Amino acid sequence: MKIAILGGGISGVALARLCAADGHDVVVLEQAERPGGLCKSRRYGEFTFDEAGGHILFSKDKRVLDWQLARCGGEAGTVRTVRNTKIRWHDRWVPYPFENGVGHLTKQAIVECMAGYIEAYVGRRIGAPCPDNFGDWIRWRMGDGFARHFMVPYNEKIWKCDLSRMASDWVAGRVPEAPIEDILKSAVGLDTEGYAHQSVFWFPRHGGFEAMVRGTVAGGGFDLQCGVKISRVERRGDGFAVDGTAFDLVVNTVPLPQIEPVFADLPDAVRADIRALRPISLVNLMIGVRLDEPLPPLSWIYLPFADQGPTNRVTYFSNYSPHNAPAGHGSFLAEVTHRGELRPDAAWLREVTKALDRAGILQQEHVVLTEWCNNEYAYIDQDLAFASRIARVRAWFDASGYLTFGRFGRYEYHNSDQCIGRAMQVHEHIRTLSATGARAPLQLG
Ligand SMILES: Cc1cc2nc3c(=O)[nH]c(=O)nc-3n(C[C@H](O)[C@H](O)[C@H](O)COP(=O)(O)OP(=O)(O)OC[C@H]3O[C@@H](n4cnc5c(N)ncnc54)[C@H](O)[C@@H]3O)c2cc1C
Repeated sequence: MKIAILGGGISGVALARLCAADGHDVVVLEQAERPGGLCKSRRYGEFTFDEAGGHILFSKDKRVLDWQLARCGGEAGTVRTVRNTKIRWHDRWVPYPFENGVGHLTKQAIVECMAGYIEAYVGRRIGAPCPDNFGDWIRWRMGDGFARHFMVPYNEKIWKCDLSRMASDWVAGRVPEAPIEDILKSAVGLDTEGYAHQSVFWFPRHGGFEAMVRGTVAGGGFDLQCGVKISRVERRGDGFAVDGTAFDLVVNTVPLPQIEPVFADLPDAVRADIRALRPISLVNLMIGVRLDEPLPPLSWIYLPFADQGPTNRVTYFSNYSPHNAPAGHGSFLAEVTHRGELRPDAAWLREVTKALDRAGILQQEHVVLTEWCNNEYAYIDQDLAFASRIARVRAWFDASGYLTFGRFGRYEYHNSDQCIGRAMQVHEHIRTLSATGARAPLQLG
């Protein structure tokens, strides 16, 4: 089949590689000057940084993880790290996830967290219904103490809204519930491990996270066209046309609001739903520092409080690979989310690094490099109408013959491994289509 894939992020190039291996004639049409999307990295002198904040290689799906590692040169091409993440809780370093590190808080805060947790636990046991908004969900699930001491300030900082405006359904599969025994152990000072699926991760030894994209494109057997401006996509006869060129299949992975204007045959109601889909944007600060001694062996940390500046998460990026920073130097990524209003300038950058200095993360006089990168489409705004809106959009695409997937191509809050998992599912769908000729609706589990 002749297949056009719109967008050359990891979703697009992973699917292209899989389909090309089956002998299909595949072209990837990418608007930017090179592929990679949110997985891109960049160099400043001898520093390498990721553009869209800290990215790591991990997956619950072994088949996907093996695929990712193979694209990065396997064990030799990657650095394996045991995760060491913390929350900067006032002047303390609290192990993450917060509920597993509760014993590191002040005695008063431990009591408040545990009293609230037990109340919430009993409430759920006697049938308190799961709230549909995220703010109430946090209290229902974690109790008032955990809410006040971490969950609410942190989540307000990252989502930039009143949490009662957000839906709760997306957190269900994303935030695994720690067993109550683990939380009780943590409260009395016995550390427990949470989020075990992510306790070890990998990172490309050279070239930043983008190395995975380069390894997907290299020898992929498909035609990658960059710097392309797509003007019109339409159904034509039994197939499709992109700017007049005929294809048997068109697969979209571009953020839906960015590609909607060129789809000629979208019904008005679906267009309206797509236009109402909002992203949360991310300014990623790339910071290089001179080091007198090695950085602490941290992976990343969370900064929940306003007096720590606007950064919600800091990645200790030079700890991911010794090649991310030159000898005698270290590097950080500082993530600041926004809703389209942030325009960084020199004064703002200084304020952010000053706040990181105050929080005990770096010394401002050791900073040798500060650059930034804005990512318009970083997170999904999962407001209360999101689930029904995106369900209508997906239903139209899935029945239309076009295929659409990807973090914003389907508006699924997915990491790159899940995008690759989706590419594998779409690839299976295309195999069936190619073998039988039957255009059954796309079904993604
Ligand atoms: C802060 C943050 C941290 C993350 N951490 C991790 C992590 O630790 N591990 C992990 O695996 N994942 C992580 N992710 C998720 C990961 O970045 C995404 O899941 C993945 O990169 C999405 O790939 P995609 O191809 O679906 O979308 P994108 O990367 O958004 O790709 C879409 C592509 O479409 C192109 N495009 C846009 N408009 C057009 C147009 N009109 N025509 C043609 N092309 C167009 C874009 O240039 C882009 O290349 C993180 C994401 C963020 C924001």
